[in-house]
Amino acid sequence: MLKKSDTPRKLRPATAMVHAGTARSGFGETSEALFLTQGFVYDSAEAAEARFKGEEPGFIYSRYANPTTRMFEERMMALEGAEDARATASGMAAVAAAIQCQVKAGDHIVAARALFGSCRYVVETVMARCGVDCTLVDGRNLDEWRAAVRPETRVFFMETPTNPTLEVIDIPAVAEIAHAAGARLVVDNVFATPMQQRPLELGADVVVYSATKHIDGQGRCLGGVILSSKGWIDENLHDYFRHTGPSLSPFNAWTLLKGLETLPLRVAQQTTSAGKIADFLAERPEVAKVLYPGRADHPDAAIIAKQMTGGSTLLAFELTGGKKAAFAFANALRIILISNNLGDAKSLITHPATTTHKNLTPEARAELGISDGLLRLSVGIEDVEDLIEDIDAALSAT
Ligand SMILES: *Cc1c(COP(=O)(O)O)cnc(C)c1O
Repeated sequence: MLKKSDTPRKLRPATAMVHAGTARSGFGETSEALFLTQGFVYDSAEAAEARFKGEEPGFIYSRYANPTTRMFEERMMALEGAEDARATASGMAAVAAAIQCQVKAGDHIVAARALFGSCRYVVETVMARCGVDCTLVDGRNLDEWRAAVRPETRVFFMETPTNPTLEVIDIPAVAEIAHAAGARLVVDNVFATPMQQRPLELGADVVVYSATKHIDGQGRCLGGVILSSKGWIDENLHDYFRHTGPSLSPFNAWTLLKGLETLPLRVAQQTTSAGKIADFLAERPEVAKVLYPGRADHPDAAIIAKQMTGGSTLLAFELTGGKKAAFAFANALRIILISNNLGDAKSLITHPATTTHKNLTPEARAELGISDGLLRLSVGIEDVEDLIEDIDAALSAT
């Protein structure tokens, strides 16, 4: 049997991410064990019966739960202050399951318009096919959330800071509107990371992550996680998860556990560097505007001060020369790579209008502030001076 480590329950994040959730086998291994198994065997038919009845603890099948996957879930629970969690094969599996498990035909969802493309597809298109209506609102306008509520509203969904313009939505205020309407608030916290914003403490009912991003942080595997109270998970997600099977592979769970060990270090470094790069860009004549949640000139600075503990590892900026300048800049970079991913050890740059947000109409892009000159930079763990030199040279080339 596995022995849970008896490290104290309340640990600061940097300590928790190294130790929390660890369950050691009889071999006393230092690093978390990888249980790459589909199933589990029983000593007797009676033991199998007792396990299935829930009279005896233990694992049954890795679609339901697996020791390595459970260690990842428990470490995330420690970080987030959540009572329970389920790890999923990708961030989108987490988003889709967190929403779908709590609605039925005739129900209604309200979601902030500035969403990751696939999230928008889930709430608009997939849900509509199941007879669940969705109203999209400007997440920063509380009156729009209030006005969108209907008697059958069950779920509020948002992402903050948003992709790619890093708008910040007031989580406690939206949670209050959701709860007054009898709905639950689900927050996609990918951009903030658990190091910079804790939605459950701010009033959200459910928090979801793409672990593909900062949690792995080294570009290796996909993953996701849904965290909430034990009551919400038992009532809504437990059976749905077992029977629809969005489960995370134990191998990927092991990789993500190793990612969590260095998450606090990486996010701190990436955030410090992003702040320096934002300040550097703000002084440059080629740059029309910089959007960075750590700067005093961010449009939502007052909300950021209330609900976030750091800046961000991401920033967005607009070049005065439009698409031509944005492409010339990206092509001239020699360290920062062109990629739509984010949260990686490697710095990555994206031109949202022609990639991640190309499927939106020009009007929808304009509504979200995604101009042709806008670039999104995910800052990695490289030496910031090398990154600034790379940016400096590329700006001169535009
Ligand atoms: C990447 C991302 C997702 C989807 O995660 P995958 O792991 O790619 O499925 C969802 N929401 C946000 C905000 C993301 O950045």
